[in-house]
Amino acid sequence: MPVLREALLKISRSKVMKSTVTHAPVTRRVVDRYVAGETTDDALRATRALADAGLTVTIDHLGEDTTKREQAGATTDAYLDLLARLSEAGLAATAEVSVKLSAIGQLLGAHGEKIATENAQLICEAALEVGTTVTVDMEDHTTTDSTLGIVAELRRDYPWVGAVLQAYLFRTEADCEALAGAGSRVRLCKGAYAEPESVAHTDPAEIDRAYVRCLKILMSGDGYPMVATHDPRLVEIAVALAEREHRAKDSFELQMLYGIRPSEQARLAWLGHRVRVYVPYGTDWYGYLVRRLAEKPSNMRFFAHSLISR
Ligand code: FAD
Repeated sequence: MPVLREALLKISRSKVMKSTVTHAPVTRRVVDRYVAGETTDDALRATRALADAGLTVTIDHLGEDTTKREQAGATTDAYLDLLARLSEAGLAATAEVSVKLSAIGQLLGAHGEKIATENAQLICEAALEVGTTVTVDMEDHTTTDSTLGIVAELRRDYPWVGAVLQAYLFRTEADCEALAGAGSRVRLCKGAYAEPESVAHTDPAEIDRAYVRCLKILMSGDGYPMVATHDPRLVEIAVALAEREHRAKDSFELQMLYGIRPSEQARLAWLGHRVRVYVPYGTDWYGYLVRRLAEKPSNMRFFAHSLISR
């Protein structure tokens, strides 16, 4: 993994850097590129604009690595409010939600998994009531088994719950095989965390090759692949594989992040593909932002500015 990216990903969990960057005057402009805003209204506004452009949406209420039970409850409540507001606005058929289990209690000690499962069940029930779905984001590799276990439990009552698999992990081809069954919604991404060489490919070309192997498994399976990448070559390969497998255009979807390659999102939708945009909102944007900056090192100047302009 390039040194700069690794260093950035490490500071994505630093509390000191979080405070420095969050209060730097130069920050707002960069945040606005990747984050839809701080309030539910902001998320709804962005969702409406994307829906008008023929795109679907998955909304993330920002937050992760929660260490307090009240905070996990507050994040769960924010999702329940968001789902009710989506329904009121007539946007529940357009937008689902993406949830990080670490934001709703997964890391809260011995009872963390139970708390996160119960909170996720509340969110799934609310999504069911308004007629939409939930996808469970994937975080660093120390949580993969726990997260897939909770997804399996949620799927007993809510079979439409989406799982996320990260192509950079050595284990992921086997996970793709296990999750390629009928009706299984699986988002495939490259992976956004700093992972050790013992568990993950770190060479970008190796990650791309692993992504294609995973795509082949998902596209030839009976599930619903959600191809999450901005990489033009991988999007092209995904579409070609879907055609080779005689998949209808509504049997898979392409996903990209808010603010990244928006004209390509619109072009793919115009070509008749299902395109879903991941829309993050909220005040706790630091970790998300740093992962986006790590993917685009030309954004590094921002960090230097935020440190010296304090
Ligand atoms: P890259 O090779 O990183 O990028 C390809 C091209 O896209 C770049 O050359 C550039 O032109 C453009 N690009 C990519 N990133 C940026 C950026 N930040 N700013 C500007 N341009 C950029 N990761 C997880 O670990 N867990 C998840 O749950 C998860 N969910 C995701 C959901 C969606 C919908 C998407 C699209 C990604 C998600 N990711 C998740 C992030 C993913 O793992 C990658 O880190 C991220 O998508 C960058 O990889 P890439 O496939 O776009 O390829």
